[in-house]
Amino acid sequence: MLKTRQTKYTKAVQDYFKNYNHSSNHQALEYLQSFYPNLTATTVHRITERMVKNKVLGLAPLTINQIKRFDSNLVYHDHFHCRNCDLLRDINLPDHIVREIETLLNGCRLNGSLTISGVCQKCIKNKEVL
Ligand SMILES: [Zn+2]
Ligand SMILES: [Zn+2]
Repeated sequence: MLKTRQTKYTKAVQDYFKNYNHSSNHQALEYLQSFYPNLTATTVHRITERMVKNKVLGLAPLTINQIKRFDSNLVYHDHFHCRNCDLLRDINLPDHIVREIETLLNGCRLNGSLTISGVCQKCIKNKEVL
C-alpha cells in the first residue's frame, strides 16, 4: 500500500516538473496538494532529491532569494534569469559568444552553463523595470 502511494507521488512529481519546469519544491507541493491533500513537503523533497541523484531531474539556477529550483531539460543549456520576477528561460548561447567571453578572460575555458540576467519582456511591458 505504502509502495503504491509512493509510486503515485513520484509519478505526479515527475509530471509536474515536465509541465512546470524551473519550479521549486514549494511550488510543486502547493500545486500537487490540490490533487493529493496528504502529500507533505518532506515527501516532495525526498522525491526530487532522488530524481536529481538518478539524473532524471537537473538543478536550475537559484531564485533571487536563493531558493533551489529544478530543471527537467537535461540537455545542456544556458539560462536567462529575470531579476525582477524570477523567470528563467532556456537559451543556447552560440559558440562564437562563448569564444568571445573566453577571449575576454584571456583564454580561460568556459565549461559550465551560463546564466545571464536582466529584465524579461513581460516586466518591461508592465513597466516593472528595476
Ligand atoms: Zn520578469
Ligand atoms: Zn533550464
